[in-house]
Amino acid sequence: MKLAIFCDFDGTITQNDTLQFLLDHYVGDAWNEVEDKVEAGLLPEKEALQLEMDFLKVDEKSAFEALDKNIKIDETFKDFTNWCKEHNFELIVLSGGFRKIIEFVFQKNYIGSIKIYSNDFFVDSKNKWKVIPSNSPKINGLCNHCKTFHLEEIRTNFDKIVYIGDGTTDRCPAQKSDWVFAKKGLAKFLGEKNFPFFEFRDFAEIKSKLELLTDKKLEESN
Ligand SMILES: [Mg+2]
Repeated sequence: MKLAIFCDFDGTITQNDTLQFLLDHYVGDAWNEVEDKVEAGLLPEKEALQLEMDFLKVDEKSAFEALDKNIKIDETFKDFTNWCKEHNFELIVLSGGFRKIIEFVFQKNYIGSIKIYSNDFFVDSKNKWKVIPSNSPKINGLCNHCKTFHLEEIRTNFDKIVYIGDGTTDRCPAQKSDWVFAKKGLAKFLGEKNFPFFEFRDFAEIKSKLELLTDKKLEESN
């Protein structure tokens, strides 16, 4: 069976969201008002992300030192990446966050090469943080990085689209996927919509569930 597995980064692969960590650490709770509007669907992510970055005044080096000390990934993720490789499942990280941070966290945790699509950022000489939106095409233009585009781009090459996520930018692609693994805000959102999903705590659980699902599908086709 050919599986494409799309996976969010912040709060899904990492135990906590890296941008939310930086904002909590350096700003306090002033940015929560922006995030609450996004959660409630009152403010598109496309505008909200830069508004949140505007709160940050820290230099990039200090920010990365803080990330280095405080950000941990799901301990079962590395094994999951190896399992995907063994089965020729296509694992793709789709993030509404930033490539520089993702690559930093992966390198630190000895995670090998994985396809990543995300936004990025730069910090200018006055420590102003600027979003560089993903340059991949957008379907409805509400997000800096349209995650759903990547599903649509390769959908016909795969038997099933799997989606793993936790947050607001996962709502759209999750609802376009065959098998969805959700936690936190995404689980709540999908539950309220009666959209079917599997709740998960870690990637070991996702692996076990996918083993069952793919075996079952193989039996059905025999
Ligand atoms: Mg997330």
